[in-house]
Amino acid sequence: MADTATTTAALIFSGVLEWTTNAACTGQNKLFFAPPGERPEARAVRESQARSICNTCEVMPDCRKWARENREYGFWGGESEEERAAAGYRVDMPVGRVARYPRGNGEPVAPRDGRGIKTA
Ligand code: SF4
Repeated sequence: MADTATTTAALIFSGVLEWTTNAACTGQNKLFFAPPGERPEARAVRESQARSICNTCEVMPDCRKWARENREYGFWGGESEEERAAAGYRVDMPVGRVARYPRGNGEPVAPRDGRGIKTA
């Protein structure tokens, strides 16, 4: 069985995530994913900065398609979670609920099967 790093590398370098090699946001995760407890004002500033980067990115169409189809959390392809929801691609749980309302044994809720990258 392949480990997570091998699987992810395969997706990036020869698979469905090949477009990420040309991503303008490489190394800037803090702008694209909300920290715990982020206030609305801080979120607006962070997402504005992320949007500026997306607007220069040559792979935005591929990125937006991936995020919509995989119901990603965070800022992808020039869209926030709310904007993807408005386009008909809601996340599994409302923004912030995954961290605030863990299920069962207290672990965060896993993504639905059949979409996204499995890490375990
Ligand atoms: S469109 Fe935005 S989130 Fe997607 S790869 Fe480009 S910079 Fe990153």
